[in-house]
Amino acid sequence: MKIVNPQIGDQDWIIEQAYLKNLELQTDYRKKLKEVTNDFVQDVIDEDRGWVKGRRLEYLNSKAKEYKELLSPLSGLVDKLKGTTLQWLAESIQENQAVPIMKKLKTVELEIEGWINPVRNGEQLSREDIDRAREEDATQYLDIKSWDSDKAWASCIFHEEKNPSFCVYKDSNRYHCFSCNKNGDTIDLVMELYNKNFKDAVNFILKR
Ligand SMILES: [Zn+2]
Repeated sequence: MKIVNPQIGDQDWIIEQAYLKNLELQTDYRKKLKEVTNDFVQDVIDEDRGWVKGRRLEYLNSKAKEYKELLSPLSGLVDKLKGTTLQWLAESIQENQAVPIMKKLKTVELEIEGWINPVRNGEQLSREDIDRAREEDATQYLDIKSWDSDKAWASCIFHEEKNPSFCVYKDSNRYHCFSCNKNGDTIDLVMELYNKNFKDAVNFILKR
């Protein structure tokens, strides 16, 4: 027996609506998921950076301490032998034992300095390079939606939003998001946008 539905048109309409609703839910879900994932990834990266730095510094400091403890008696011995008939022994100890440890200590101390003060980490970057990169207009990397007298507005790079709450101040050339409170300068912005480290970001901004 064949069932004829006189309201077949309505059924089509219901199916279409259900389909559209489903699509809307999916898009919504994807957006939410992306937001949550972005925040989560950001938090994890920040945490990891801190954790790696902490662990590395712990290791480097213990190494520095170890080298200094090795050097101390050697230097004492070298000092005692200097100017005596065993001057040759002092020189040999200095050259063959003390100097190699001093070199290792220097390497460790340089890395410690680099972790504590990353600006000085990376020999090719000069202070002028970094300052120049910081002064490069941050808005060139953003899709600016509107301008005020003192700032430019864009959608936040850290999350999705309908109304731009991410701004760049003209005076300081720094960004700030009123939604998520993230802030920084042009170098930070390029590091975040293109997933670059400090040195690569500076070079990228200076186009080299
Ligand atoms: Zn934001």
